[in-house]
Amino acid sequence: DPRLQAISEAIRVIPDFPKQGIMFQDITTLLLNHKAFKDTVDIFVDRYRDMEISVVAGIEARGFMFGPSIALAIGAKFVPLRKPRKLPGDVISEAYVLEYGTDCLEMHVNAVQPGERAVVIDDLVATGGTLSAAIRLLERMGAEVVECACVIGLPEVKGHSRLNGKPLYILVEPR
Ligand code: 5GP
Repeated sequence: DPRLQAISEAIRVIPDFPKQGIMFQDITTLLLNHKAFKDTVDIFVDRYRDMEISVVAGIEARGFMFGPSIALAIGAKFVPLRKPRKLPGDVISEAYVLEYGTDCLEMHVNAVQPGERAVVIDDLVATGGTLSAAIRLLERMGAEVVECACVIGLPEVKGHSRLNGKPLYILVEPR
């Protein structure tokens, strides 16, 4: 796809953020580039529009920057999966392992109904731990996770093995 190179080049790489040794993939520069931003959303929309998806679940915070546009375009609802104690209603929680310690994602109960077909969106997958927690939340509510989608995927992603067998769709690798 000829659009992918421009998408990759629109992502800024910031060394040593948020700490020494990390090459941070900064998607805010992709959002500043209308053509590359629109192409990113369009690629996901073209992929999911005919797959009878009724739920796009976005992971806080950068999954919120792509998910709603995709949801509106394919006629699906958008469900935010948030960090702890952000959602005001009744929630279910799933913990996941980070490099140091654990974190947690929450979803409102009744945001999805049993049998709904869902796609999970985030900006970047590294280990796949975050996406796995998202999958567990949706499956606990009886939804079917059709695929996980990210703009950026690390090539060494062991993500696959941690996604409970769910397919992973990635646009570009880090630069
Ligand atoms: P994982 O759980 O797959 O190891 O990590 C993925 C999560 O970490 C995503 O929610 C993603 O937003 C965040 N993340 C980790 N490193 C980066 C990075 O370099 N750039 C961006 N944009 N997000 C990152």
